[in-house]
Amino acid sequence: MSLGGGKKSGRLFERAKKVTPGGVHSPVRAFRAVGGTPVFMVSAKGAYLRDADGKNYVDYVGSWGPAILGHAHPAVTKAVQKAAEKGLSFGTPHEGEVELSRLICRMVPSVEKVRFCNSGTEATMSCLRLARGFTGRNGMVKFSGCYHGHSDALLVAAGSGALTLGKPDSAGVTPGAVEDTHVLPFNNPGAAERLFAQRGAEIAAVLLEPIPANAGLILPVPGYLEKLRELTTKHGSLLIFDEVMTGFRLAPGGAQQILGVRPDLSAFGKVIGGGLPVGAFGGRAEVMDHLAPDGPVYQAGTLSGNPMAMAAGLAQLKKLGEGNIYRELDRAGAVLEKMFREELGSAGWKDPFVRIGSMFCLFCRADGVPVRNLEAARLCDTGRYARLFHGLLGKGVYFPPSQFETCFVSAVHGQRELEITRKALRVAVRQA
Ligand SMILES: *Cc1c(COP(=O)(O)O)cnc(C)c1O
Repeated sequence: MSLGGGKKSGRLFERAKKVTPGGVHSPVRAFRAVGGTPVFMVSAKGAYLRDADGKNYVDYVGSWGPAILGHAHPAVTKAVQKAAEKGLSFGTPHEGEVELSRLICRMVPSVEKVRFCNSGTEATMSCLRLARGFTGRNGMVKFSGCYHGHSDALLVAAGSGALTLGKPDSAGVTPGAVEDTHVLPFNNPGAAERLFAQRGAEIAAVLLEPIPANAGLILPVPGYLEKLRELTTKHGSLLIFDEVMTGFRLAPGGAQQILGVRPDLSAFGKVIGGGLPVGAFGGRAEVMDHLAPDGPVYQAGTLSGNPMAMAAGLAQLKKLGEGNIYRELDRAGAVLEKMFREELGSAGWKDPFVRIGSMFCLFCRADGVPVRNLEAARLCDTGRYARLFHGLLGKGVYFPPSQFETCFVSAVHGQRELEITRKALRVAVRQA
């Protein structure tokens, strides 16, 4: 029996490979880390995906983050339909951009001004250019295992798909493009202190995922982010949080709200577009005003602030700002965590299960040692993860097709979905 997708997925994949490298438009979708044929989906609604062969899955990928309210939430799809009827793109300013910008500035206190772009990659790339333009320095610090999209300067020791493929450095990235990029181990304050003591005056910015979620899910040790804030302030460098994954996911104000550390700039994506392609970056007005047309740092986008994308983002963020949605998401996460711990425990697994709010990750490490950085994540048994993945997939539960990703629970994962997941997990752990 072949693993992964059914007959129709298989046929689509064969056709796709003839016209697209690897048959996919983003590498992790190809299932290389787990083997088998990728599943081609035809629709997504609530907590479920439906594939080309008519099989349904309880989805814990959520389009890699955006589907926090569940797929095709009526408020979001209606907003997009309404916007579409008024024109797909204007290429001029419009009210939707103003409204969404105002909402973001209200939800994230460190963001005084914001600029929209079309992806998380663009957002982090633009933050970096802005930080260099603002400080007049070239140096940049990133952390091994943190993924910031696929721009040249940031494709060193990156997580996510780059990690799965075992190619942290991409071919086609010149040594010059990364010569100003310093890579540090995460959760190691001493290493950051030493670098700043030697090179502090050259460093424009420290860029990180405050809660790294592209090498599995890694929590910062207490005091670590505070230390990075202190070092950057002392040396006149900017602190940039890449909240493409955590922004509007963990709290209205993102990870920075929960962790109580205020960055100079933040990058957003994923949840912010409600499922449409949107990125954004923002922060201190004094820094943001260095952007064109006010300042010398160029940044632009033909489809930036697209009216449908703004409508989707606005509808989604408004919902997230209402009621107790983050408390509900955390409760759903806690119930899921309890279930995982019970099922793993009864099968004798000691593997670390990490969760914060609606984000979680199971590291396949039989020794049960907590994972605090990329080096520890690398020791996972990826073969066992692959078997677990396929066990779950076969039983209608869709997990990320790689150990080095984070899972998401949405606001509409309820009792029924939990029971499906429990049954699948019970079988899958015993076969893995
Ligand atoms: C997904 C992600 C990106 C890249 O966003 P794209 O929209 O895929 O370009 C950047 N940073 C983090 C933390 C991400 O999770």
